[in-house]
Amino acid sequence: MDEKLHKSAYGGFSIVSVAPSRPNQIESSIVNKIKALQISESTNCQGILIDGMIKAGKSLHGKNSQSVYTAKYFENSRQTLEKLSAESDFRPPLIKFSAVKEPKPRSDEIFTYRMFQSDIKLVRTILESAGFIATEGHDWNLLWIGHNPKPNFYEKLSIYQKISHFPNSFEITRKDRLCSAIIRMQELYGKDQFNFTPETYNLPEDFSMFYNNFNKEKRSVWIVKPTCSSQGKGIYLIDSMSEVPIEETCIVSRYISNPLLINSLKFDLRIYVLVSSYEPLRIYIYEEGLARFASEAYKPGHKGNRFMHLTNYSLNKKSENFVQNEDFRLDDTGHKWSLSAIMKLLEAHGISTDLLMKNIYELIIKTILSCESTVLETTHKLGLHRTNCFDLLGFDVLIDNNLKPWLLEVNLSPSMATDSPLDTYIKSNLLADMFTLIGLRAYDKKKDGYGRNRSFSKTNAKKAGPSRSQSPPTLKKDSVSKKHREILRETLEEQERRGHFIRIYPSKGTNFYDQFFTTPRPLNQYLYKAIYIDMMQEPDLYHNSIYVSTFTSGFQQDYARHTFKIRPVTCSVEPDVSCPPILQPKAYQQRQVSIETQGKNALPEISTNEDTKNKCRACKDTQSFCPYCRLLKASKEEKIVITGDDILIEYLARLVQVLKNTKESLLKSSWKLRLNNFISHPAWINSDIDQKIWKRVVNRLQEMKDRKRKLVSVLKKKKIVLEDMEKEDVVAGVLRKFTSSELEEILRVSTKNTALEVVKCLIEQENGILSEMLCQGIRQAIEQQDLDSPNFEETEYDKHAFATQIHRETLREKFFNNKAPVRKRLQAAK
Ligand code: ADP
Repeated sequence: MDEKLHKSAYGGFSIVSVAPSRPNQIESSIVNKIKALQISESTNCQGILIDGMIKAGKSLHGKNSQSVYTAKYFENSRQTLEKLSAESDFRPPLIKFSAVKEPKPRSDEIFTYRMFQSDIKLVRTILESAGFIATEGHDWNLLWIGHNPKPNFYEKLSIYQKISHFPNSFEITRKDRLCSAIIRMQELYGKDQFNFTPETYNLPEDFSMFYNNFNKEKRSVWIVKPTCSSQGKGIYLIDSMSEVPIEETCIVSRYISNPLLINSLKFDLRIYVLVSSYEPLRIYIYEEGLARFASEAYKPGHKGNRFMHLTNYSLNKKSENFVQNEDFRLDDTGHKWSLSAIMKLLEAHGISTDLLMKNIYELIIKTILSCESTVLETTHKLGLHRTNCFDLLGFDVLIDNNLKPWLLEVNLSPSMATDSPLDTYIKSNLLADMFTLIGLRAYDKKKDGYGRNRSFSKTNAKKAGPSRSQSPPTLKKDSVSKKHREILRETLEEQERRGHFIRIYPSKGTNFYDQFFTTPRPLNQYLYKAIYIDMMQEPDLYHNSIYVSTFTSGFQQDYARHTFKIRPVTCSVEPDVSCPPILQPKAYQQRQVSIETQGKNALPEISTNEDTKNKCRACKDTQSFCPYCRLLKASKEEKIVITGDDILIEYLARLVQVLKNTKESLLKSSWKLRLNNFISHPAWINSDIDQKIWKRVVNRLQEMKDRKRKLVSVLKKKKIVLEDMEKEDVVAGVLRKFTSSELEEILRVSTKNTALEVVKCLIEQENGILSEMLCQGIRQAIEQQDLDSPNFEETEYDKHAFATQIHRETLREKFFNNKAPVRKRLQAAK
């Protein structure tokens, strides 16, 4: 190797370089195959739009070009931020961090950090050069913790204190948990949406399933890993069942036997991902990362050779072949490269890296989504403020020779060891940028009563005294829009401090991922709309008017009432589950139909009085139950759980019957329009363009039923399914006692969020499509024959008994008084 000694210094890093002796190689047949594949895959345009952002995998000292869209985006966001910054700011000043030691002006203020179960020199250096001092006490500004902290660490935090982990992020960072989380997402949303991890089994629990699949392909190779280990420890390859550990707790994954090779060596990528908030969700990827090479040329077989099959640095550095990188600028030498060097090499071979990066972004977002609801639930339980935690995660990604990225694992505390100048350069910039981005503030906890006394947990919040100088502005209960502005400002400010981080969620196109949240997230949707639609003045093609329903509580109702003249939600059937595309396993745990009171116009209200417990205020007054109370009563009597999904399923089943028996040419154009809006709502997963309307509604009904079934099976696996959820017949029996207009009434006022949008296509202000069609249909039927005749049940509108009943009840409600003969009543009504 030629040795070149550069005397220069770059940004505080001295340069000593070892230039490579020969150009780096990728086999030409593989390059040609990848190019051909890329042409066929170039139409994949769902989800994130790589054009709408800066692409990762560019070196930190190179210039990163911006697309026209990105440049416009940054300009618009700066203008928006200026407007938002006109509001008063009570927050302590931000602290800026740098990767290399810079002389700092002396400050009287003392900021402290605590290292717990971890001692990372680089973290200490960067914090201390920004003026922090170490403490073992509790009044720290930053807690850097090696493992997932116990709940007591999160107690009594002030808004400006930060912990280096969110609670429960081990849901994706433990190998066995990640496996379960991805399987859960596959069951909920389909394997093709979550196909970026190799097939994996948790042993011994999944032994029989693994055994069956192993035997299907006798010659396959698998890799066994201990569940809670790292650095390649305890990992080995197997190709026979006799090698499978029977009693150990471990995972076994299908071995990716076609890795992309550079210079005949296998490598994997370390991608740094920062989650700065879960509410709203903000995910960043660092522009630069690392590639770790195996130290022996890859050949299929040789399963015992760990230097060939494992790419861990900690393992390969022990190999006699291992070459350490000695110059951070020559980042494609030795056995550890930068991510940008890999991208540069691929591009030098004529391979486009856009789709690869897009797939990596998608893999990261979907992985985070698989633990999102658990993390969020715990942060709420612990009463944490949305800015109290952050997570810097290390995603290990293997690229196969089709250029498909595979997620191998997620590291909770990615190594910050600095054995080479390249390590120091990338990791120190990473840490400095990260501390700057998360927004540590010059906040003196000791001086501030607010910080000492107040936790964000509900109980403690009540006890807290009045806030003092450094206290954050408190929001008035009714000013929810102020909270939205605050979140927008926080997000745009964070963006200004991003350094070399690229925000991948939210980013242009990420509203596509709304479908993978277990529950609609109003703040995420608000933020997306605010920055990618309103700020960029773009039409909301994807969601149309979905954001009507994405604001929370009071704000949602006010906004909806004033803008879209939707009736205020006065009585609701819990849970919020009428949403066809988004399953809500958590919601099912408190699935009983219940009634809420909201707003001054609220009609039904639960009374605490024992004998009127099941009645709403309206029912109490009139002594006759409203549909919600009847539903509640029926579900209690039958000891069943009726969800919003059940009601919508029943409604769609009836709609199908009516549509099936009505010629499409007889449908009013307004009905067709509404049906079409419903069928083609982006919330549905399946699309079917060329079929008849009734068949397409059947498909939607089927989708809902499938989802419910999947959900029940997931809950069952988790042993939380209640027997009563499976009493489908009983539920259907109860629901059949309700007229269609009653079902519409319940759906109209009880449905929220995305579901509201879907349901709104069918059920407008006053009328639901089904009751309209029934009335219309029955009018026609009556004009032709006598509704009271025993043959009526045989008419084309009433092939099913329940449909007959609905027809009659709807008719009764809409036009007649109960006792008069039908024809007379109809004439009277006319
Ligand atoms: P650890 O946490 O011990 O590093 P990893 O899951 O990262 O465990 O695996 C260690 C190494 O083994 C990876 O860096 C990769 O080179 C290799 N490896 C892991 N899983 C697979 C797989 N399914 N197919 C091919 N190689 C794998």
